Amino acid sequence: MHEKFCAQGIGERLTTNSERRTANNEMIKSPRGTRDLLPPDTAFWNFVEATVREVFRAYNFHEIRTPIFESTELFARGVGEETDIVSKEMFTWFDRGEGPEAVLGKAWAAQHARKYERIEADVRIGRLEVDFVAYLNNQPTLVELKFRADAGVLLRLQELQDEWQQRWGVRPNLAVALPIPEVNLMQELAPGGIEIQRLALPEDYDLPQSLTLRPENTAGIVRAYIEHKLWERGLNKFFSIGPMFRRERPQKGRYRQFYQIDAEVIGPASSGSQSPARDAEILELLATLLDRVGITNWTLELNSVGCPADRAKFNEALRQALAPVVDKMCADCQRRAVTNPLRVFDCKVPEDQPIIDTLPTISQFLDEACRTHYEEVKNILNAVQVPYVENPRLVRGLDYYTRTAFEFTHGGLGAQNAILGGGRYDGLSEALGGPPAPGIGFAIGEDRLVLSLTASAESVIRKPDVYIAPLGAGMNREAARVARELRRHDLVVDLGDESFRLKKSFEAADKMGARYILIVGENEVKVDAFALKHLASGEQVTVPRAQLAQRILQK
Ligand code: AMP
Repeated sequence: MHEKFCAQGIGERLTTNSERRTANNEMIKSPRGTRDLLPPDTAFWNFVEATVREVFRAYNFHEIRTPIFESTELFARGVGEETDIVSKEMFTWFDRGEGPEAVLGKAWAAQHARKYERIEADVRIGRLEVDFVAYLNNQPTLVELKFRADAGVLLRLQELQDEWQQRWGVRPNLAVALPIPEVNLMQELAPGGIEIQRLALPEDYDLPQSLTLRPENTAGIVRAYIEHKLWERGLNKFFSIGPMFRRERPQKGRYRQFYQIDAEVIGPASSGSQSPARDAEILELLATLLDRVGITNWTLELNSVGCPADRAKFNEALRQALAPVVDKMCADCQRRAVTNPLRVFDCKVPEDQPIIDTLPTISQFLDEACRTHYEEVKNILNAVQVPYVENPRLVRGLDYYTRTAFEFTHGGLGAQNAILGGGRYDGLSEALGGPPAPGIGFAIGEDRLVLSLTASAESVIRKPDVYIAPLGAGMNREAARVARELRRHDLVVDLGDESFRLKKSFEAADKMGARYILIVGENEVKVDAFALKHLASGEQVTVPRAQLAQRILQK
């Protein structure tokens, strides 16, 4: 294959990269914008996740895991059609599912086929085709399967019946099989002599649909809240950790598969979900969380984007302010000015920024309730001494936010300096077909959090306490026994192989940074005491088996 393609000129024949790579036996790399997280870096990820879980526990948050793909419509409705995420960045595909015919066919085979002696599927009769021909006592029945009752199917069946009779001289019986709710209607439509068969369809059959890899997790969690009627539990405090997917231009700190640590507080208004105390609690939690993972010099930027009525007024004011200047702005802004002027604030084009600086800010349009809510969030933050700066232009790139919106930035990150963002989304549940359920949440970019860690690898990676060197034939068995005993004492133990010379074992132990090396040779096994050498000091002692763990734990 390889030579053949080469001889014929690959460039001309192969169109896609993957065809070319296959023909050349080339190495396959991870897709653009994705990356492998390898040890020792994964230790930082584990450190972050373990710390974050501890913090969530202290605030009584509980884990929720939702699918990494959802119906496309969830994001279109939940995040907003006009947002960059939905309009440009989603990984969406059309899932073929089983197809309606397959669903009907399976149901019919399971529920009706047994009555007949023999059945044939998809039988061609002249230029027509019928779903099933079923025989009983050699008498054929032509069966059509349908989702809906309509008169067209009856005409077709009669045509099939005539055709069959002309060809084979037998007049077949006719049957239509339909989902149960359609059966009554069909009985009214059908003339006598056509049998109507009932089909019970599985509730959640796999129809073709558009699916999307989740670009964020709030919509999925609110979907789960609605689907499982979680309002019955009162106030829900969730967190989740997992991958998100956006087709963005990759750069440092920006990936197509990235990880978010999410938290959401959601419940009926009666559970206190609307209270500014929840906003402040979330922000204080974040301050604690960043401190605990060792991220200092963060900045909390805070704003209130008001409620939908304020936003309508603000959008109108923006439209007016944009009208005389919008033709000097980028194409995206020109579109946004018409469809959703608020999104102009998402613009990153440098030339547009001076114009954006002159636009009105939402703070001028907040109603009394939103203003009071915002003031109270700030009062609590002052009381718990969480510093913030107000940024009246912070609107966040998603449509669902109401009232409090925030971002934490970090100086060390360069252009992609937002470590996390979040806000309140009081109308999201209704937009997704649920009951009113005020909520507030955030998403931390875990990739960026890990990038801004100052902790040293030493402090988060647990190196082996001891490296066991089996010495000579038959010693792998003995070494395995010792390792098992030591690991029961929560020691980190690694093992060599009986084929290694002692020198090689020492090198391996050194390389992995083990504290001790333990020699397991025939003599040691005989006396049940082992040579234990401290690698840094070179000090070596012989320790009876029963005291090994104790001894290694000491230093
Ligand atoms: P957003 O949902 O856009 O508010 O994003 C929340 C956080 O996720 C941001 O503050 C980033 O830290 C992180 N984030 C968003 N997009 C990406 C990306 N493409 N790559 C890495 N991190 C991202």
